[in-house]
Parts: sequence; structure tokens; C-alpha cells
Amino acid sequence: MPTPVPVLSDSARGFRPLPLIARPPRREPQIPVLGRAPRVHLWHIGCQMNDADREELAAQLADIGCIPETALDDSDIAVLITCTVRANAEQKVFGKFRELIPWKRARSGRAIALTGCMAVEHGEALLGRLPELDYVFDVREPDGFLAKLQALHAPNLDGPVIVPGSDRLSAYVSVMGGCNEMCTYCIVPFVRGRELSRPLPEVVEHVERLVAQGVREVTLLGQNVNSYHDQAHRARLPELLAAVDAVPGLWRLRFLTSHPRNAVPDLWSAMRDLPSVCEQLHLPVQAGDNDLLRRMRRLYTVDEYREKIAAAVRTVGPRLALSTDIIVGFCGETDAEFAATEALMRELRFDTVHLAAYSVRPGTAAARRVDDVPREEKRARLNHLLAVQREVAAERNAAYVGHDVEVLVEGIAADRRPYGRTRENKVAWLPEGAARVGELQAARVAESSAWQLQVEPVGTAA
Ligand code: SAM
Ligand code: SF4
Repeated sequence: MPTPVPVLSDSARGFRPLPLIARPPRREPQIPVLGRAPRVHLWHIGCQMNDADREELAAQLADIGCIPETALDDSDIAVLITCTVRANAEQKVFGKFRELIPWKRARSGRAIALTGCMAVEHGEALLGRLPELDYVFDVREPDGFLAKLQALHAPNLDGPVIVPGSDRLSAYVSVMGGCNEMCTYCIVPFVRGRELSRPLPEVVEHVERLVAQGVREVTLLGQNVNSYHDQAHRARLPELLAAVDAVPGLWRLRFLTSHPRNAVPDLWSAMRDLPSVCEQLHLPVQAGDNDLLRRMRRLYTVDEYREKIAAAVRTVGPRLALSTDIIVGFCGETDAEFAATEALMRELRFDTVHLAAYSVRPGTAAARRVDDVPREEKRARLNHLLAVQREVAAERNAAYVGHDVEVLVEGIAADRRPYGRTRENKVAWLPEGAARVGELQAARVAESSAWQLQVEPVGTAA
């Protein structure tokens, strides 16, 4: 008889179960009799914070002796790291979950776990809704889940497992969690909690470890990364950038996502003065109209945003690549408000714009307003701005033709052409045989399109 697996109720610390859903009695998953360490398949969706959480979870699983990042067919446990920022992200998770059901049924003892933002939003209520789901846990506090795996698989766990080093050149490093802003449309503060920064020495040590493994480019992550604050070490984001910039062997440093409210001159001078910090700024504006910004509770005006961008470009230089996030179809968005957003895009000429149609998130302040822009209209507005951005991006990239860039070569494509990214985060393609993976290649831009550059080598950059 297989031994029953206890429920992971202790992993539900801090969860807020949805009130109206009655939880049926828990079924008892089976413990696989493996005679070896369990293999864990990881899947994630959503922002770069989830990429970072996936890496961290893989390391934690390896520490207790599980084998992480295995192919689904070879795995015993599948973990879904989820996102809840928009309704369609949740739908994709449910779709992935449905795909896993036949996988789970194909072999006795397989299990499915769910973590990430949906786990916090819905809590253990998900166990009631999804009968094939075995575990729900908070990725920020995985100890209960890991302890349960250790208890269940103890005879076969002999951690830490040495996972073959990856040959990646770039990595994300989460430097803070949570968000103290309360933008009216956004679920993040509810599922990620209050801001909490990692101590500066811990971040530096993390980056040193990655560099020792061959990583050359690091992106520091936070939902609101420019409110990073380590009081004990008197460090805000500029001081953190300086400390990470000093790590020997690190070539490039980026950071995401900044909030315009905390975008201060010190940050621009740090970007100018620190050699590894790339000429790239992601500063979400969300809308180009003051009334709309106020309804979104963004706490800045369009003029204030313009001034921040102007100061950044003045200090860092005209090469600074700009990207932003924009939401279309927010509650009550009029034609005039939408036109103001389009005008701002045309005026500021971002290199990249992440466009999203407004999606009601239950529990947020905006969910109490009428979602009155029809779905078709949202789609039309989104497509219109996508076309505007394609035009602007093509012009921005065309201005690079004839100029020199530095490419960190990340891979060789099937057609044998090396590709990589410039310091401005533009995808660049080199001719076959022109560079090797892991090299920094100096190059001149020969051709451009809205999304990429064709470049020719002009010697070695470093
Ligand atoms: N903290 C960042 C900021 O200040 O803008 C962004 C983080 S948020 C997770 C990423 C993006 O998702 C936002 O910039 C916004 O454009 C989009 N987003 C958040 N909630 C949304 C919603 N309810 N509907 C559509 N897009 C949304
Ligand atoms: Fe969400 Fe606003 Fe926080 Fe960004 S700043 S994560 S949009 S609440």
C-alpha cells in the first residue's frame, strides 16, 4: 500500500483563501516509490521576478537533494510558478494545468504544485477548485514545501545535488520584493506584499557567485527597484549599483522596473559614472493624460514624467535607450485621453513599449469602477499603439545605422549567424563566423528594422 502524503497545510502561511469557496475533503496523493531523488519540472509565466524566483527555487530544490529543471516526461513533480497581473496570464496557467492532468495520470505518484502570485491570491482554495493539484505554496516562503519533500523522500535525498553549471551569460538578481505603491489597477501589492530589500552585501555576494559561474551581465530586479533601501548599509539604488559595478568580471549591469516617482538625479549620475551600467532605462508611464494618471493613482503628472526623462537623457547621454509600459482601455478612458497617450509616445519616442489592455483584477480599487471600454475598443486601441510603436522603433533603430555598438554575443542561430544584445538592449546580428559566444564584439550598424540591427564587426571591444 502506498503511504499517504499529508496535506501541505503548513505551507499556507500568510495565504488568504477566497472566502466563498468551500474546500472539499483533501484527497491523498501517493508517494512515488522512486528509489532515487525526485525530479522536478519547473514552468513559469509572467515578469522577470518570476524568472528570478524560478532560479532561486531550482537552487533550493538542489540543496535538499531534488533534481531541478528536468524535462516534464522525466519528472515526478511539476511546479507552476504563476502570474496574476492580468486575467489572460491566469488563463494560461489554467491551460498549462489542464495539460498536466494526463501527464500526472500517466504514472502513479506524480504530483503537481502551484506557487507564485496565484498561490498568494487564491491560497488553498485552489486545492478545492483543482482536484489534481497537490501542493500550493508561497514561493517567498518555500520552507514548508521543501520540508515536506524532504520528509516524503528522505531515503532518496542526498543533497545538495550539484547541478551542471549553465553556460548562460546573463542572469536576473532579485534585490527587493513587494511594492508600496497602490496603483488602482494593480494586484501586485496584494500578492507580493510590502517592499522588502535584500541587504547590499547579500546582493553583491549573489552577483559574485554568478560571475564565478561565467555570468557577465546582471539585471537587478524589483517591482519598484528604485525604491531599493538598505538602511543598515546606507544604500539606495545608486549605492547598490556602485557596489555591484565593483564586482570584478561583471561587464554589464541593468535594473528593472523603476517608478517615475522615485527616479532621482542621483540615479542618472550613477548610470553615467558606473562603467558597467548600461544605457537603458525602463520607466513605466502607463498613460499620457493627467486625469487618467490620477485615476490610476500614479502620483505624477505627464509634465513631471517628461522632465524626468529629459534629465535622464541630459545626464546619461543621447544614447540612453528608453522603454515604458502603457495600459490602454482603463476605466473611463476617453478618446481624448487615449489620443494624449499616443501623442506622448510620438513625442518621447521610446525604443520599446510594453502595451497591455486593461484587465480588471478583483480586489483592486479600480475593480470598483465600471470597466466601460468595450473589449473590441481595447483591442483596437492596443493595435493602433502597436503600429505607432513599430513606426517609432524603426526610426529609432535607423538612427543607429553607421554608428558603433558593442554586442555581447549570446548565441549562434541555426543559420550560423552570431547574435546578441547591445548595451542599449537591442538585438544585433553578426555575419557568420564574425564572433564567438561570450565575446564582447565591437561592431558598426549596417542595417536596421523596428526590432533588430544587422551589424559588421570592427575589431574586439574587450
Ligand atoms: N512596478 C512597475 C510600474 O511601476 O509600473 C510595473 C510592474 S507591473 C507588474 C507590470 C506592468 O503590468 C505594469 O507596468 C502595467 O503596465 C501592467 N499591468 C499591471 N496591472 C495591470 C492590469 N490590471 N491590466 C493591464 N495591465 C496591467
Ligand atoms: Fe503595480 Fe503600481 Fe506597484 Fe508597479 S508601482 S507593481 S504598477 S502597484
